Formats: sequence, C-alpha cells, structure tokens
Amino acid sequence: MSNRILRPLLAPVLLLAVASCTPAPRALPTAAHADSTVIRRDIEFLASDRLEGRLAGTPGNDSAAAYLARRYRSLGLTELVPGYLQPFDALSAQDAHMGRTQPRPTQNVVALLRGRDPALRDEYIVIGAHFDHLGRSPMFAMDPEAGDAIRNGADDNASGTAAVLDLARLLKANPPRRSVIFVNFSAEELGVLGSSWFVNHPPVPIERMVAMLNFDMVGRLRNDKLIVYGTSTATELKAIVDSANAVAGSAMFRISGGGDGYGPSDQSSFYAKDIPVLHFFTDLHEDYHRATDDADKINAGGEARVVELALRVARAVADRPARLTFVHIAAPVRTAVSEEGKQTYLGTVPDMGASETKGLLLTGVRAGSPADLGGLKAGDVIVELGGVAVKDLYSYSDALYAHKPGDVVKIVVLRGGERLELSVTLGRRGGG
Ligand SMILES: [Zn+2]
Repeated sequence: MSNRILRPLLAPVLLLAVASCTPAPRALPTAAHADSTVIRRDIEFLASDRLEGRLAGTPGNDSAAAYLARRYRSLGLTELVPGYLQPFDALSAQDAHMGRTQPRPTQNVVALLRGRDPALRDEYIVIGAHFDHLGRSPMFAMDPEAGDAIRNGADDNASGTAAVLDLARLLKANPPRRSVIFVNFSAEELGVLGSSWFVNHPPVPIERMVAMLNFDMVGRLRNDKLIVYGTSTATELKAIVDSANAVAGSAMFRISGGGDGYGPSDQSSFYAKDIPVLHFFTDLHEDYHRATDDADKINAGGEARVVELALRVARAVADRPARLTFVHIAAPVRTAVSEEGKQTYLGTVPDMGASETKGLLLTGVRAGSPADLGGLKAGDVIVELGGVAVKDLYSYSDALYAHKPGDVVKIVVLRGGERLELSVTLGRRGGG
C-alpha cells in the first residue's frame, strides 16, 4: 500500500492489540478451496531476502515478475501480453522532486482466463495486486533508522500477490461466464504507477472491464476482522459482499470499510476510469513499511479464508447477467502540503475500519504525544481541526498538514455524545 496518505499518520503508531494468528484446523485443500500452503510458499519466495524487497527497477523486482509469469504459465493461463509481461518506465513524483530524471524500467505481469459464456466473455473482471515493495530504500519507509536494510514486504504486498495467484488457480479450475484478467502491478509504492500505466495502456478495451478487485495487505487477519473498501462504487456491491460473507456460515468475517474507490492503492487507478472497485485489506500493523514485515508473521490460513470470500465475490460479479451499476463519488479535494507541514505530528491512531463514521474515529492516542497531552482519547471522533471540518482521513490529513510543528490548534471532538473543544500544541515527527 502506498503511503501517500498513511505515512505521516502511521509513523508514531503503536498497535494496541497483538496479532493472534492461530489458524483453525482445516481439511486438505481441494480444487475448490484456497490453499494456504501454496499461499505461504509464494509469500516466502517473494518476501525472501534474495529478491531484496522488489523495488521497481531492480533485479529483485524483475526476478519476482519472472516468477509470476512462470506461475501463470504453469497454471495454464493465456498470455494477454507477450510473455505475460507489460513493460513500462516508472518515474515517480518523488523521483522528480529529488532531481532523478532516469526512469526505472519495470513491468506489470498480466494473464488472462477466457470466460465460458460466448455472450459475456468479451467483458472482463480484473483481479489485481501490486508485487513491488520498497527494496532497500528508506525513501518511503517508516524506519529510516534501519538504513538500507531490506524491506521484504511480506504483507505489503507479497500477500496480495499470492492471493491473486490462488484466485487464478481456483477460477481456472471452473471458469466463470465473463473473462478474468489477473494482473500484478509494479511501482505501486512509487505512486500507483503500474496500475496507472495499465489503465492507460489497457490490453483490452477499458470500457469492457466491469470491475476491479484489489488485494493489498491481506496477510495479517486478526480476530476475523476484514476491511473491504469500495462497496459504494456500484449499487450492487455491498449486497454481493454481504451475501458472499453469509455463505461462509460460522467462518464469517466481521467486515467493515465501505466507501469510495479513492484509497491509497491500485484500485484508485481503475475507479478514476469509472470502473467499480473493491479493496480487500486485513488492516494496518506495526510492521507496515518496515524491515520487519516478514513472511513469518503472515497468517496464511486467514489469508486463505479471505481468498475464499473473494472467490465468491468474483464469481458473483463475473457470472451475473448484467454489469454492475457504477456509482460516481466526487474525489476528495486534496490540498498541497508543504515540506514543513509533512513534519507535523499529532500522535493519533485512526480507526481505518470506521469509514461509516462522520469524522475521524480514534482507536487510540500515542502515550506522551501531542494528542495525549492535549487530552484526546481513544473513542474520540475528531470533527474539526484548526477551524476546518474533518469528515474522513483525507480531510483530517489535509487539515493537520496545513499546520507547522509548534502551532497551537483547536481540535473539536465528539466524546460520548458531547462536543468538546481541545487546545493542542502540534509536535514534530520523530520527536521534538
Ligand atoms: Zn506499501
């Protein structure tokens, strides 16, 4: 997941709960079931040190792409682009900002499963996940103090990549009516560059893509809590997700999320082209964008359950007689943030699963942080910061980073039905 929005919020996060990753005992996988053993094996390879964190434009990223192409070939999927590879040059805004003019040559990996219904197979659903990560670069990392340590990105996003591979196997065994494009994007961490390239150079006409399902960070399921963003991007999607979850019976997830398609991952590139999207996500954790995001922390059994839910959603979308009804939601207005503003630190721990809330719900505040010293508490809903209304994470971050470290701002919160005004002195990231 790209840290365009998340990074400044998360640098100080300490998670309140410790992951419990005990997978339930389960029967051996069959062709109709997700395979946690294969999921774990794919993640362990992609997140091994030999691929050096899969930064776009590095040999480790190219090796990962070659591995994915081999996996699609052995699954018997069709080449939609030569050798399953869609090359492009990645040049991020950050690169440009740092004076870098040499693009990073890299590639998406793309495979096709033809649908079984001749009347519908010229329509496509896209199942995707980025496979790149941060490599050894501290540029987007939360742990710059780790220097050039390898950030293996097991959850972000070897996990999503493995989910797409297992969905490819499951759907190939019993193809749906519409065709399915499986795609692993590169350069997501540099600003969703691979998915932008894909939608602007689509291997099939883009108006024939009826939905995009994105998997970014699905390897850390805890307490059956699954986030599915984007359910408001088509009128039918919420009911489809809910009924796919109901089929799971006692294995049901507690699903939160909802909302638009503008989150900080590859689904945003598709939503910008008027395609309904979903983003499956097992939430943030303390290893996000750090060298400690390793394969031994993956809950492969939990991820297999996410894959099985997603399989039911994918089939429902791919088999339904009519296309989904796209819903356009206006993009959140983002304001420019100064370099100084990016250093501003409050110390909140936002609840990423609470998108139905008007305002920003906090699951906690970091001890000793400006938020803590200013009197904010877990359970507070921030509705105003510095005189600006806070409706969601976007408006919150815009309001926060409009200020400098040291500024005193008025923060209005809802607490137990009451509206409280707090005066908070903003700090600087990394202390001080
Ligand atoms: Zn990421």
